[in-house]
Amino acid sequence: MIPSNDFTAQWQDCSRDILDACSRVGQSGWYVLGKEVASFEQELAATWQIPHAIGTANGMDAIEIALRAAGLQQGELVLTTPLSAFASSLAIIRAGGIPVFSDTDATGLLDLNLASKVLAQQPDIRWLLPVHLYGHCLDLDHLRTIQQQHGVRILEDCAQSIGATHHGQPCGSAGFAAATSFYPTKNLGALGDGGAILTSNPDLADTCRSLRDYGQTAKYQHEHLGLNSRLDELQAAILRSAFLPRLAASTERRRTIAAAYHQHLANPAVATLPAPPHSHSVHHLFPIRITAGKRASFMHHLQQHGVSSAIHYPGLIPDQSAMQHTRFSCATPLETARSLASSEVSLPIHPYLTDAQLDHIIATVNQWTP
Ligand SMILES: *Cc1c(COP(=O)(O)O)cnc(C)c1O
Repeated sequence: MIPSNDFTAQWQDCSRDILDACSRVGQSGWYVLGKEVASFEQELAATWQIPHAIGTANGMDAIEIALRAAGLQQGELVLTTPLSAFASSLAIIRAGGIPVFSDTDATGLLDLNLASKVLAQQPDIRWLLPVHLYGHCLDLDHLRTIQQQHGVRILEDCAQSIGATHHGQPCGSAGFAAATSFYPTKNLGALGDGGAILTSNPDLADTCRSLRDYGQTAKYQHEHLGLNSRLDELQAAILRSAFLPRLAASTERRRTIAAAYHQHLANPAVATLPAPPHSHSVHHLFPIRITAGKRASFMHHLQQHGVSSAIHYPGLIPDQSAMQHTRFSCATPLETARSLASSEVSLPIHPYLTDAQLDHIIATVNQWTP
């Protein structure tokens, strides 16, 4: 089977650097919030070209902490996308916010024209959480315009888009902060959970540092009711020594694979999704759309030919049963997002995919008749 992520190949490639990192941490005898986290934060901030990085236990906490640090109050409305990892909205709810969903466009990402209309109609919405889904970068100029016109505070969910740019500017640089994830499948995945907040605001960075560590501002001084959401020294050391140094090359490989799919996929029952304008994507996923009602048969065909595939995402966040227990609203019909949720399939796109595997996937897709 050609897997969606090849952790065996990754281990073969990276094990020496990973074991060196583990040994370094073991020998240091310091396991929580030490030199490795501090160095990784600096290196991540430098790579991302955003001044401050704050490591967290995972990406969902990074969103919650950033929203709380920026002053989100209980019961405030947060405009967001219905098509994302559930964690995007769960973090809003955990931070005390109320999600308001607005439809995506054909890219599968939040429709910014529509979002702007919603914000004009509902001036009580003071927060916006866009998701740079699939490794694309939303139009950052448009986000800045929305911020200015409607006075909303924007937190960018960059869990899938580390390294993506718009006109050379990094995703995460338009809002007050970016939140990202080092979940193993992400473009910069750890050997377990991890996440980070990136911001150019030093005061916000300090508050995030406090919130991730029980709300302490100094040892045993608790100014906030914080979380325990620290990035481990071990994960920070592994990210620093094994994965961050490989990020540029693995992003290039993802781009090469995406270009090959765009050039060679030729099946009238299969369509690639457009990217937002001027997105220099990092292709966390490669989403395609399958002709109505045929997705299961398409995925079965792939599986018969040894190709794994996945769906991002099979349902909308507001349709999840857990949402029945919380307040939220839908500001627009969610037809585009719903139609994507019923037709999307993600093809394998990871840095260890070989050319032979890529050719096989393309041939398998092109052979399929619905
Ligand atoms: C993975 C992901 C998250 C959550 O990150 P975790 O580290 O799993 O908590 C949030 N948003 C998006 C878009 C994601 O893909």
